[in-house]
Amino acid sequence: MSKTLVTGAAGMVGHALRQLNPDDAVFTNRGEVDLTDFAATRAYFQAVKPDRVVHLAALTGGLGSQIIHSGEYFRNNILINLNTLEAARLAGAKKLISFMSTCVFPDPAEYPLTEAQLHAGPPHPSNFGYAYAKRMLDVQSSAYRKEWGCHFIVTIPTNIYGPNDDFSLNGGHVIPSLIHRACLAKKNGEDLTVWGSGKPLREFILSDDVARLTLRALDEYDEDEPIIFSPGEEISIRELVEIVVDTMKFPNKVIWDTDKPDGQFRKPSDNSKIRRCFPDFKFTPLREGLAKTVAWFEENYPNVRQ
Ligand code: GDP
Repeated sequence: MSKTLVTGAAGMVGHALRQLNPDDAVFTNRGEVDLTDFAATRAYFQAVKPDRVVHLAALTGGLGSQIIHSGEYFRNNILINLNTLEAARLAGAKKLISFMSTCVFPDPAEYPLTEAQLHAGPPHPSNFGYAYAKRMLDVQSSAYRKEWGCHFIVTIPTNIYGPNDDFSLNGGHVIPSLIHRACLAKKNGEDLTVWGSGKPLREFILSDDVARLTLRALDEYDEDEPIIFSPGEEISIRELVEIVVDTMKFPNKVIWDTDKPDGQFRKPSDNSKIRRCFPDFKFTPLREGLAKTVAWFEENYPNVRQ
């Protein structure tokens, strides 16, 4: 039996992996080991001796915080990744998967985003420190593969949503923020205010799908180049809001606040690699994933991350 260590396990994908109940898995989080500290990280990996590592831990944050603290995001993420991959190598881990996000791609990029474009230009200035630190996961994995034959792979998921997300009212991502705000507006008999024009397009992936793909990639994917995790279907924010409102049986009006930012208009990604590698993989339809997320939120509110 192989032992799998999951770092950053307190987040949304960590919870989804727990539900899949992988054999002999160890779930850890920042309270247990400080991955910015190499001595502590090395000692922890030597004690656990994982065969496989799912490296989810990262310092993440919204746009506002990223602009002000680009040095913090760079330093912490570089240390977390450098230490984790090195400790995994020294402890003899046979496979490791780490996570980036589509926001680390060059800006402007060529659409659809492909794995090959990752280093083709600087990232958007708003997340400069975070993006460069994350890109180094790919560089470190590749260099370790070349010198030490490490089977370290990297994935790039598109916008993830699902149970156990951060449901902050204003600082969170669109799906959890909307679910939370719609719940409060319904309770108070108010209208629901949504940011922007509703025109931007996004690709959403359910955390359960990310977790299932992660375990498959650990078993079956071993290429030097990253792999994008995306259902490959864009949906407009307007259509998304319609589904959320419908799922929650929201009875009042939706107001579009065009003073709030739309963000990037679209950032479609090419999911042909995933279709080639896992042709039988079935993504959860958005409506079904949203129903699951709303049900989880309603069951757990107010004990949700926010
Ligand atoms: P990102 O733009 O891909 O990083 O993801 P977000 O989840 O932050 O936002 C996606 C889109 O949803 C943007 O066009 C936002 O303008 C729109 N949006 C609408 N309402 C909200 C909201 O309450 N919160 C956020 N974050 N975005 C919203």
